[in-house]
Amino acid sequence: MTKPLWAPWRLEYIEQADEQEGCIFCLAAEVDDEAGLVVHRGDAAFVLLNKFPYASGHLMVAPYRHVGDFGELDDGETLEIHRLAGQGIGAVAQVYEPQGYNLGWNLGRVAGAGVTDHVHLHVVPRWLGDTNFMPVLADVKVMPEHLAETRRKLAGAWP
Ligand SMILES: [Zn+2]
Repeated sequence: MTKPLWAPWRLEYIEQADEQEGCIFCLAAEVDDEAGLVVHRGDAAFVLLNKFPYASGHLMVAPYRHVGDFGELDDGETLEIHRLAGQGIGAVAQVYEPQGYNLGWNLGRVAGAGVTDHVHLHVVPRWLGDTNFMPVLADVKVMPEHLAETRRKLAGAWP
């Protein structure tokens, strides 16, 4: 990613992350799919929506295991996280038809991680010109209804 996407709600999220009780990934895994915005559950890892997305269909893939050290992921988790990311791209492609994707691991607060103690892979759909387009959306609150609808669509389109 040569140009960082500018998304002010991300800053609010990162500022709040330290004060949050519990781990959002562990909590999402425990509750039902709608409440946790979980799109798909695998054996060792699962897929959920980012509540503070850079773009529609912004997914995160995380192991169920609460692990903050990227190097501590076991082979099964590593394989399934990548396989789920591939399936997630398939679902996002069907629903949103983006022109490209960024896949990335933000390890550590300085690298942009809002949650540092439960590793997760971001799948961010990209459209031509979205770095210019996103600031236009910056003042728009991301409505829970919108995320619920996004979750429903992507779960339905899961390959
Ligand atoms: Zn956790």
